[in-house]
Amino acid sequence: MILTKDQDLDNIRLAGRLTGEVLEIISRAAAPGMTTWELDELAEKTIRGFGHIPTFKGYRKFPGTVCISVNEEVVHGIPSKKKVLKDGDVVSLDIGVSVRTVVDGKNFDFIGDSAMTVPIGKVTERVQKMLDDTQASLYAGIKAARGHATLDEIGGAVEDIGKAGQYGIVRDYGGHGIGPDYHEDPFIFNYRTGSKTKLKPGMVIAIEPMFNLGGHKVRTKSDGWTVVTQDYKPSAHFEHSLLITEGEPEILTKRPSEVIL
Ligand code: MG
Ligand code: MG
Repeated sequence: MILTKDQDLDNIRLAGRLTGEVLEIISRAAAPGMTTWELDELAEKTIRGFGHIPTFKGYRKFPGTVCISVNEEVVHGIPSKKKVLKDGDVVSLDIGVSVRTVVDGKNFDFIGDSAMTVPIGKVTERVQKMLDDTQASLYAGIKAARGHATLDEIGGAVEDIGKAGQYGIVRDYGGHGIGPDYHEDPFIFNYRTGSKTKLKPGMVIAIEPMFNLGGHKVRTKSDGWTVVTQDYKPSAHFEHSLLITEGEPEILTKRPSEVIL
């Protein structure tokens, strides 16, 4: 999706800002003893309170508002009343907010998509470093995402940090274009592929590196959603939605208290 009209830019900025606000609220609420279901309820209530729509709820029949992935779960974890957070866990929170407009009688959604992984209580130094490095790789990818840059420049920037930390860089999932139906082309790899595809000003994309403490391989559990590391080592995931410009991209989903390094 390429946006140029002021009204469209206002809507995508609103969707992004609300996504950042909700993510900050639920990441701060996450604490030992809480279930992932409760976090999901808080997110849904907050988004509906803003007067907007939780993008993921019902998307390809996903039952929640937030993908909540704990420890060895990489992405697409389903919120559950049985899943209680405990000291030492790492929790990935991935959320989308849709701002709905109607064009020629049809719904047209502007979507923000963002994720972060937070420690619950005290985690090991090695795990904390994985969280910090994954976030740093997202920022490096964002810096590379200038107008007319190639997708390979983004993948390379992310890969360099992943390799330096000796993480398993997840290959089966990655960033993407964002359109009115959520995901769209191009797929954005978190490593070098030689892609010459260029970013065009006005594009809306998500960059989302996932680093594992062990190997890069993942598999989907029998629930059809939850992606876990094959070696059950923990994983981290950070994501922002961006508006591509002629120069540095605009970070649409920046959280209110986030300091971009
Ligand atoms: Mg996401
Ligand atoms: Mg995404």
